Amino acid sequence: MNAPLRYVSTRGASPAASLGEAIAAGLAPDGGLYVPESLPRLDPAAFDPHGTLADTAATLLAPFFAGDTLAGDLPAICAEALDFATPLRPLASPPGAHVLELFHGPTAAFKDVGARFLAACLRRLPRRDPRPLTILVATSGDTGAAVAAAFHRQPGVRVVILYPDGRVSPRQAHQLGCFGDNVRALRVAGRFDDCQRMVKAALNDAAVQAAVPLSSANSISLGRLLPQMSYYAHATLQWRRVHGGPLNLIVPTGNLGNALAALWVRELGLPIGEVQLACNANATLPDYFAGDAYRPREAVATLANAMDVGAPSNFERLRWTFPDEHALRQRLHAHSVADADIRQVVARHAREHGELLCPHTATAMHRLERLCVGGDTAAWTVVATAHPAKFESVVEPLAGHPVPVPAALAAMLARPASADPLAASDEALHAWLLARSAAAA
Ligand SMILES: *Cc1c(COP(=O)(O)O)cnc(C)c1O
Repeated sequence: MNAPLRYVSTRGASPAASLGEAIAAGLAPDGGLYVPESLPRLDPAAFDPHGTLADTAATLLAPFFAGDTLAGDLPAICAEALDFATPLRPLASPPGAHVLELFHGPTAAFKDVGARFLAACLRRLPRRDPRPLTILVATSGDTGAAVAAAFHRQPGVRVVILYPDGRVSPRQAHQLGCFGDNVRALRVAGRFDDCQRMVKAALNDAAVQAAVPLSSANSISLGRLLPQMSYYAHATLQWRRVHGGPLNLIVPTGNLGNALAALWVRELGLPIGEVQLACNANATLPDYFAGDAYRPREAVATLANAMDVGAPSNFERLRWTFPDEHALRQRLHAHSVADADIRQVVARHAREHGELLCPHTATAMHRLERLCVGGDTAAWTVVATAHPAKFESVVEPLAGHPVPVPAALAAMLARPASADPLAASDEALHAWLLARSAAAA
């Protein structure tokens, strides 16, 4: 058995932690993000070619879990969390193009993968504190529902969701507010970046932590990032078996958690070829990859709202993975897609191919179309991150017909929903958490 992999902070000023400790903590004590001391190398031949997504995940993640208290549970965690398909389907056009559908989980977005895996890990981690653990989650729309669904009615856990009021789709807002029981939704008078900052501040505040034991469930948590590698590993193995060669990906990108998982899978030695990042009008990453200095900024609202991020939190992990900035800019490309182009792509795909795309997936589809227009003949796979039914207010007018709603989403929409208003300040969240814990005590 290999020595256990240790986890360190991207900022280098926290002690090394075990996987279980890193997952329980969320953010490292120095404010950085946990990363493995080094990325292991995997042999593609180690995978069962006919295994399920959960089987692939258990093989892929074994070196990350080796020696940890969670190691023995890894196959069960994978089976419990990854119990839905992530199919790789051919697209009507261009020839060779595929779509990797990541939206067949309970809340109809890829965030279900990370949220369910994190929940399955946290359920098994020993806690010395008998008080309930509060999972704080900032969401630009999809994360909150996935985390709420993953922890709903789990004893000993409360979930508090912060979302930017008026900046999520009506169905997303309904989903966030429909759980009840141990889940509370806060609609924040601000942007997603405010929600994210407030969560980070609370997690770093010793006084708040002393009163209300907190953990995070944002894509900053390793427990979400690691399992997202599974569907890429699974798809590359399938691709190689059927088509040969590496899988080239276009990933709709906001906080950079999904795309980073694909890049890590490539670093592990599995056959991923090129990775392109498709962003919305929030151009922090496209500007950086065009050669500008990294300049985080306030997010602007777009149709692809789960990608309305001006300060992508996983950028620190990207820079840790690729310390040579020049090489990084050579290897990775990012493009910004305007709302007008998102609308055009959604309408055209519905009209010409009968394919319905969510606005996020449409950014990646737009990038594919630009590549084809530019004469690129590689076989690309567009990553589909949400079901179009979550964004019916955008998609239906463009498609000209209703979008069929998956059963799990329909059940959530049939329940009543509510959310508390909150000012966009760190103090307001602290006060809310303290008042609520006092009321519950
Ligand atoms: C969260 C989300 C994204 C962006 O993923 P990141 O990991 O933040 O880059 C894209 N599309 C949808 C539908 C999402 O919910």
